[in-house]
Amino acid sequence: MLLSELKTGEKGVVVKVMGHGGFRKRIIEMGFIKGKTVEVILNAPLQDPVKYKIMGYELSLRHDEAAMIEVVSEEEAATTISQEIKNNGSEVVQEESLHSSLKDLATKKRRTINVALVGNPNCGKTSLFNFASGATEHVGNYSGVTVDAKEGVCHFEGYTFNLVDLPGTYSLTAYSPEELYVRKQIIEKTPDVVINVIDSSNLERNLYLTTQLIDMNLRMVCALNMYDDLERKGDKLDTSKLGQLFGVPMIPTVFKTGKGVDLLFHIIINLYEGVDYIDEDGNINPEIAAEIQNWHREYSKDIEHEEDFAAGNKVKNNVFRHIHINHGADIEDAITKVRAELEKNSHIRHRYSLRYLAIKLLENDSEANKTALALPNGKEVLDVRDEQTRIIKLSTNEDSETAIMNAKYGFINGALKESFVEGNNPDAHQITKVLDKIVTNRWLGFPLFFAFLWLMFWVTFTLGQYPMDWIDMGVNWLKDLVNNNMTDGPLKDLIADGIIGGVGSVIVFLPQILILYFFISIMEDSGYMARAAFIMDKLMHGMGLHGKSFIPMIMGFGCNVPAIMATRTIESRNSRLITMLVLPFMSCSARLPIYIMIIGAFFASYQSVIMLSLYAIGIIVAIIMSRVLKRFLIKNDDTPFVMELPPYRFPTAKAIWRHTWSKGKQYLKKMGGIILVASIIVWFLGYYPNHDAFSNAQEQQENSYLGKIGKTIEPAFIPNGFDWKLDVGLVAGVGAKEIVASTLGVIYSNDDSFSEDDTVSDDTVKYNTLNAKMTADGITPLAAFSFLLFVLLYFPCLATIAAIKGETGSWRWALFAAIYTTAVAWIVSALVFQIGSLI
Ligand code: GDP
Ligand code: MG
Repeated sequence: MLLSELKTGEKGVVVKVMGHGGFRKRIIEMGFIKGKTVEVILNAPLQDPVKYKIMGYELSLRHDEAAMIEVVSEEEAATTISQEIKNNGSEVVQEESLHSSLKDLATKKRRTINVALVGNPNCGKTSLFNFASGATEHVGNYSGVTVDAKEGVCHFEGYTFNLVDLPGTYSLTAYSPEELYVRKQIIEKTPDVVINVIDSSNLERNLYLTTQLIDMNLRMVCALNMYDDLERKGDKLDTSKLGQLFGVPMIPTVFKTGKGVDLLFHIIINLYEGVDYIDEDGNINPEIAAEIQNWHREYSKDIEHEEDFAAGNKVKNNVFRHIHINHGADIEDAITKVRAELEKNSHIRHRYSLRYLAIKLLENDSEANKTALALPNGKEVLDVRDEQTRIIKLSTNEDSETAIMNAKYGFINGALKESFVEGNNPDAHQITKVLDKIVTNRWLGFPLFFAFLWLMFWVTFTLGQYPMDWIDMGVNWLKDLVNNNMTDGPLKDLIADGIIGGVGSVIVFLPQILILYFFISIMEDSGYMARAAFIMDKLMHGMGLHGKSFIPMIMGFGCNVPAIMATRTIESRNSRLITMLVLPFMSCSARLPIYIMIIGAFFASYQSVIMLSLYAIGIIVAIIMSRVLKRFLIKNDDTPFVMELPPYRFPTAKAIWRHTWSKGKQYLKKMGGIILVASIIVWFLGYYPNHDAFSNAQEQQENSYLGKIGKTIEPAFIPNGFDWKLDVGLVAGVGAKEIVASTLGVIYSNDDSFSEDDTVSDDTVKYNTLNAKMTADGITPLAAFSFLLFVLLYFPCLATIAAIKGETGSWRWALFAAIYTTAVAWIVSALVFQIGSLI
């Protein structure tokens, strides 16, 4: 619990102090040392300050300061003791055991460390997260894959780590949602330690973020990840020198294989336990040093590295220290002045490093401005700031934001000069350069990209055919088994036609979906996706969007929901909104089952062409709609952006497999959940009422609930050429688009006028059967195609609509997306049907 929650007269033992370095230092100097007992002298609710007694002294803290100190109370300790007594069956309760168990409990609690992963996009944060926590989060070789904080747990050398994987950011300005999000996480969630993951093959740019994190005065280690790339290039880096210069331990790592992770976590424990107890000269408090040594002996006998604290009471290499990035005399002077004005507000000191806040104010950061304005002397603070930015402008001839940035890069370059020697290996980047020349070539880029897309779909459908046939055989076998062994009645029909028929018609597409995801994973992990975005940039500008919008759109081919979330990397709010609104036109894999079904039945001889045309039409409609939206609805502002081109990497088989499978798993889950339920409902609606009243299956269906729903809405879709059966599929598909296929599966398998053929598992026969059934209903190939168009374009699915609501924060836009996509679908498919009929 928190110190602020202890009541007058209660006692507790200090577990840890949270917050930035400056605050922790002050609190610890007051005596709030881990393991010490603190007693509340007076804590009146809503009344500041609160009086405490610790190590014989009385002192006072404000409520929100006390809320940054974690303690164990006597009450907690007592319950643990009684719990232990219960467990061990021991009868003896000793008075003094309360105190020692209080300390034990504090130590135990202390051994949980909250760690946040911060770093540029694509530097390997998620790889570390997955490696350490055993999670299977999506890693991809392009920016913007992680758009939310993911939490995981791991255990190491007696400690528990709560890991949070944060979105990638290049800096901590207030320009993009991620940057603000990361800032908020750091300031509000106050992680105990931050792991700054760095792409070592791109030190200069990655260290920029590091300098900003140093401003925040966090307990931090840097993981020099992708160290394999650096070595391959033949570069030489003196990591301990770099660590000294930055005052942050720098650990070489390769998260792809897990190299360096042990050392990294080992250093984190040292840092967490020791760093607050080191004085200016680098001497560590002997009591603390002894504690750390004990832990070393217990847990890390076989770890070979310099034991930074255990070696002596003096910290080696001077690597754990808080430095101030020197911004040069003018800026430093300005920082001091702004800081002095901020200092009058003691109530924000526990939250922000004032130096950090001063720097942010000088950068004219909008969030910092808001924070400052809320202060009692907010106006004065901003006045001082304005005065100082004016002076900086005068003396450096740059606006203060640029001046601060340049100063930081100056610091980084200086540090790299001392520690870094570039190698002259014909490096991996050479290959990247050559590949890029080809792949992003003006003439070759597009043909290559479309050739790749074509190959992707071709392999998906030809290769996918084989396992698809096997599954289909299995489904039919199961159906026969039920048909032959159960007594006639509704239950048998429910199982055979409703469940097996409905779910079966969707599950056969699993292999194809896996293959599709396999290709998308390769595109992502190899770095090709980023190039695709790059060559599409010009086109995207034509749509009024950025190249950055392209990645979410490609992701949309997999599933629209993560794609909607991936739009968070787009800085401009309006571009982001437009991207979200047109994303549903990207044909997600849930639409595949129905495409394959209808294409198989009507267009067997030119599958790929029809399939590709659907994807292309989706893209074209997206282009048109984004232009329309930009023109009439959302005025777009054009903020410039950087299009990242990460080096090509050979994707590991393991990563690809994991990524592919995790999608497949989601698909299967959906199968067991919403699709199963929907299949049963659809079957029920098609079976009742009065199933036995008609001898003719056709008649029976028309008179079922399902038939009635279909018939009611049938007039609306006459211009599109659909009959009531197709309409029913569309209505059911609102939940998820796979349900369109499973619904038609149920409807047509109920229709036993052709049931003789159902037992034949040969594919051509199956599709011929379906074709015959649908043709008998009067569905022409043209109507079938306009049906495909409708499925492509209309209402995405409930999950996507919910995602749009979540990301825009308003139901208005979600509702708008639902309605306008359906309107577009109706218009396009009706136009195609009508014009096609004329020809
Ligand atoms: P994030 O955006 O920071 O979460 O980065 P990811 O964890 O998604 O990784 C980006 C890409 O870098 C993936 O393709 C990883 O397989 C790859 N990667 C991660 N760590 C290393 C490493 O140490 N060396 C190399 N060569 N590649 C890595
Ligand atoms: Mg990530």
